[in-house]
Amino acid sequence: MSKASSIVKPLSAESADQMRDKCGVFAAWDVPEAAHLTYLGLFALQHRGQEGAGIITSNGERLIGHRGQGLVSQVFSKNELNQLAGNRAIGHVRYSTAGGSHAKNLQPLWVESSFGEVAVAHNGNLTNALHLRRDLEKKGSVFQTNVDTEVILHLLARSEGATLRDRLTKTLSQIEGAFSLTLFVREGAETKLFVLKDPHGFRPLVLGKLQNGFVAASESVAFDLIGADFVRELEPGEVLEFSEKEGMQSWFLPERPKPAPCVFEWIYFSRPDSVVFGKSVYEMRKKMGALLAEEDRKKGFKADMVIGVPDSGIPAAIGYSQESKTPFEMGIIRNHYIGRTFIEPHQMIRDFSVKIKQNPLPEDLKGKRIVVVDDSLVRGTTSKKINTLLREAGAAEIHMRISAPPTISPCYYGIDTPERQQLIAARQSVSEIQSFLNVDSLKYLDLASLYEKLGTKTSMCDACFSGKYPVEPKDNLLRV
Ligand code: AMP
Repeated sequence: MSKASSIVKPLSAESADQMRDKCGVFAAWDVPEAAHLTYLGLFALQHRGQEGAGIITSNGERLIGHRGQGLVSQVFSKNELNQLAGNRAIGHVRYSTAGGSHAKNLQPLWVESSFGEVAVAHNGNLTNALHLRRDLEKKGSVFQTNVDTEVILHLLARSEGATLRDRLTKTLSQIEGAFSLTLFVREGAETKLFVLKDPHGFRPLVLGKLQNGFVAASESVAFDLIGADFVRELEPGEVLEFSEKEGMQSWFLPERPKPAPCVFEWIYFSRPDSVVFGKSVYEMRKKMGALLAEEDRKKGFKADMVIGVPDSGIPAAIGYSQESKTPFEMGIIRNHYIGRTFIEPHQMIRDFSVKIKQNPLPEDLKGKRIVVVDDSLVRGTTSKKINTLLREAGAAEIHMRISAPPTISPCYYGIDTPERQQLIAARQSVSEIQSFLNVDSLKYLDLASLYEKLGTKTSMCDACFSGKYPVEPKDNLLRV
């Protein structure tokens, strides 16, 4: 795989964007048919990335792998899965921003190093990968991909230390930003599995038990599908090391900053049927909707019906409906067979797919005063189109409610948000956005009341709403 000899041109500063990745990872240790289980696990994590998928298995000696572009179901045939022998596996589903969707960037990355084979699957985004890469290139490293993850492999291959644990600690102390990783590394005669989270704990990562072995995944929903028992979430900075002799050991990276799990996982990114950062995502989203309803009630506002923009706006719309006793209706039917619009990398495809994706129900909407709940406004383009559809279907009034604060800053930790100038809330006031969307009213959630309502005890990363970055986005500063 990445042992191929293709040599990629050194990255320009602009490529920092291409290296941004938001994905899903999986791992299985000592479970029969690990590749098949990983396939199912990745299937449940498909919402985290639809551009490509990969599985690498280990039988304790050699690594065998397969990666491809497309959905999990398109990448693996039964035959391919059968060839992925071994009772250990790591897997990845990939999403990339514009320019980054090439076969060479598919994960898990897999290389041969002086101490044996190494393979890694990464969810998150390194904020200093470009700096490190330039440095490594000066020292003679040749990179084969455009992804930040490759830096980890180069650092590990060059690292020194008495034990693998020392070398891994040294490697991880050089990288900054968000990284939830599943990693196969050879130590002596054995291939070990590492499952780990960066010290801020930006992205979710959970541990499960299956028969006599273990599984790990970006989200607990992967365990539901394969019948694994949820054990716990990894702590920020925690490393789980799996070996034949010692079984599973837990240790921590030395750096212990204030935790910064991503609040947007609750708002949009994770599946509602997952438990993320200790909370049910579905319940969190309903609470967000209830909070919007409470605010409306205080102002004496009442609508005829509430609808959610499918699918991600629906749990918050249900919460709004329950809190305000406003009837919940579908209002819009989504065609599920075309993928997530935003997730397509090119604007042209995105515009096209919004039109074919949502279809309103005029009989329900005609003459009604409607609350439309969506989880977020990014560029504002989806909402504008949906509201136009609703008006054409006869809605009398449209009151848009966003179950999040205004998105004003890009994410540098693994959620794909566009640059600031493309974020509608970074450029326009709420009343300007209201006019742009052609709605009768527009309300967002306030960050402080959101935290209060959610009952969060840990500090969260809310850089997309506050502009406060827990880790300096060094690579992106190169661009200014
Ligand atoms: P926009 O049309 O650009 O305002 O996009 C808003 C829609 O995109 C909302 O319905 C969200 O559910 C969805 N969305 C928000 N953030 C993301 C993201 N990072 N990736 C994919 N979809 C998103």
